[in-house]
Amino acid sequence: MISSRPTLKARYVFPVGSDPIPDGEVTIDQGQIVAMGRHMASGEVEDLGNVALLPGLVNAHAHLDLSDLARPLGTPGMPVVEWLRCVINYRLMTPASDHGVTRALEESLRLGTTAVGDISQTEPPAEPLGRLGVDLTSFLELIAPTPERIESQAARAERHVEAARASGLWSAGLSPHAPYSVHPDLLTRTVALSAERHVPLAMHMAESREELELIRHRRGPFREFLERLGAWTSELCPTGIELVDYLRQLALAHRALVIHGNYLDDASIALLAAESERMMVIYCPRTHAYFGHDAYPLEKMLAAGVSVALGTDSRASSPDLSVLAEMRFAARRHPSVARSVILELGTLRAAAALGRAHVLGSLRPGNRADLVAVALSDRDAADPHELLFEGDGDVVAVWCRGVRTEGTANERR
Ligand SMILES: [Zn+2]
Repeated sequence: MISSRPTLKARYVFPVGSDPIPDGEVTIDQGQIVAMGRHMASGEVEDLGNVALLPGLVNAHAHLDLSDLARPLGTPGMPVVEWLRCVINYRLMTPASDHGVTRALEESLRLGTTAVGDISQTEPPAEPLGRLGVDLTSFLELIAPTPERIESQAARAERHVEAARASGLWSAGLSPHAPYSVHPDLLTRTVALSAERHVPLAMHMAESREELELIRHRRGPFREFLERLGAWTSELCPTGIELVDYLRQLALAHRALVIHGNYLDDASIALLAAESERMMVIYCPRTHAYFGHDAYPLEKMLAAGVSVALGTDSRASSPDLSVLAEMRFAARRHPSVARSVILELGTLRAAAALGRAHVLGSLRPGNRADLVAVALSDRDAADPHELLFEGDGDVVAVWCRGVRTEGTANERR
């Protein structure tokens, strides 16, 4: 690692939450941002040239352990339930190791992401976290469709929360996987543990029409899938329980991330808007496109006041872990959403989803000095966000905790 200089200057500094600053400067000291503005530095200034300087990007939802995959599993447009079979087979054939997580943390940082909400199978490896400084919330995945697995999963959840406290290198979260894979009693216990220990909870919800069919009618491809696995029980998805009832339960957690929400109904959107301080929907744009779902209700949710943030999901359904690529993709898919909001979805709002907005996701004095420089084209635009999202400039430098990361230095100066 190379030490950063005290003041960085860029064609545009994007503080996030306020207007971009042309010829902006950011001063870093002791791993923190200490000043930001124009023409303020009297000491040494490093002019980064034609770049946008942004806060470190935040990935609110990933499965880093699937990062050894060279390409997504299955084929584009396949039903989620078929794809899950591919994931199960892949996991059965691939021995568990920390390799994918380490590689994913390195890739994330190289692509400008300095904080990640990861769905994990185990405690994260300490070495890459200590070396890279990425801010990691590790949401332990809990799966127990049938009652006999509840106790062991609840015990894993307790141990995970304890392990994070002992480590100090990462934060704990809990992830009851989805309505079709978590027994109602385990969900109740996990929500209670989240509230009691003040850890966030993440659950895949309303991802596919087939999931809604299972919840509403207890039939369809998911039921067949579970029956074939010997994992269907009459206690799963109880009669009379609607999607919004799951969300009411998640509202009792310390904080809840609703992953995907591709098919949220009006009642669910109204509840999420009312609970927007503590409940967030995580949109994974390229994964959404991979499965060929109906148009994502981003505009509708934002208009209703729902908190939304971006995630990449895993390399099993997305080509890489780039939050910048997700933002650019979302900007193309949702041209009526303000570009400043698109930027917030991958920075400040994602940091808020992880409970980290007090130190990450925006540039302001006192925040952690996590920054990313993105190359811009030479043209001008009335709105500088256009230069960021409509170009394809690469990440050219990344700072994490005030330290410039190796391998991102000066390629495009
Ligand atoms: Zn996921």
